[in-house]
Amino acid sequence: MKRFAFAVFFFFLPVLSFADTALESVSRTLGVMGTDLKLEVFGEDPMTLEKVLNDAVVELERIEALMTDWKPSPLTRLNDQAGSGAVRVPSELASIIRRSLEVSKLTGGAFDISYGAIGRLWSFSREDPRLPKASSIRAALKLVGYEKIQVDEKQPLVTLPSEMTLGLGGIAKGYGVDRAMGVYLKHGIEHGIVNAGGDLKVLGKKNGKLWEIAIKHPRERERVMALLRVSNTCVVTSGDYERFFEVDGKRYHHIIDPRTGYPSTGAMSATVVAQSAEYADALATALTVLSPQEGLSLVERLHRVEAIVVGQDGRVHATSGLQGALRS
Ligand code: ADP
Ligand code: MG
Repeated sequence: MKRFAFAVFFFFLPVLSFADTALESVSRTLGVMGTDLKLEVFGEDPMTLEKVLNDAVVELERIEALMTDWKPSPLTRLNDQAGSGAVRVPSELASIIRRSLEVSKLTGGAFDISYGAIGRLWSFSREDPRLPKASSIRAALKLVGYEKIQVDEKQPLVTLPSEMTLGLGGIAKGYGVDRAMGVYLKHGIEHGIVNAGGDLKVLGKKNGKLWEIAIKHPRERERVMALLRVSNTCVVTSGDYERFFEVDGKRYHHIIDPRTGYPSTGAMSATVVAQSAEYADALATALTVLSPQEGLSLVERLHRVEAIVVGQDGRVHATSGLQGALRS
């Protein structure tokens, strides 16, 4: 019996490895959506793979042009018309705003794209770190509040109260990742990755094995706190270590607590595993605002969503489905 098992093993092994090595891979890195983006696809014909990557890049650049607030875009035109009634916007913009509002409701407002009036008070550029005046923050807080945004997705129209400013920095990158993966799928690609500076979506396998994603601790950047072996899923991380400055030993970072107007103090970092990168992106931002306990109990209630959250004390927490991925 044992000998038979061996025979089967040796018979299949060369066939499997032949199927793996037959796949070519093509990859590309580029700067888009304020991050280093890496695209990689596997398949039989390199020319086809190049074409797939070209199309994915075009799609990512299209989304950036639609949703950026760094230069004029349909989003900035909407912001400019805040307070002047219902504004016609591209339907994709109305839809992502509507979905953002759903995440706001789910997270009790921890995720809120109307943070813009606060966001512009904070500068995280290296040359000009700026601590805003408490009075400016108090005034800007009055302009924040997702409940006041109205979306009519059919028309499509969006209405913002006077002076409200939307920013999609916490969700648009995830949407871009989903759309780039959509391009892969449309072309029949079966294995590949879209990696937007560590926010990623993986398809199929890498050289016949599950994709291995190492999650690093937000303070000890050499320490792998979790190792995920995944396929057809998204892994997105937010944290206080990406863009920040320090004044008198206190860290000020780019995720704003919409309740206080100051950088969030909930968690150091949050990693979300989910089917949609957009959803994972928004949730990861929210979980950085919430405390680890609040964030984890929220995620435990969600279907097919898992999370790893690092508290302010540096301790690592995970939902039930990821306990096995944690490393001591
Ligand atoms: P990154 O883009 O660095 O991966 P996130 O996905 O967490 O990180 O997004 C952070 C960005 O989201 C900020 O730079 C800002 O544009 C925006 N943002 C900050 N605070 C919030 C918030 N509470 N809700 C929604 N968006 C936010
Ligand atoms: Mg995010």
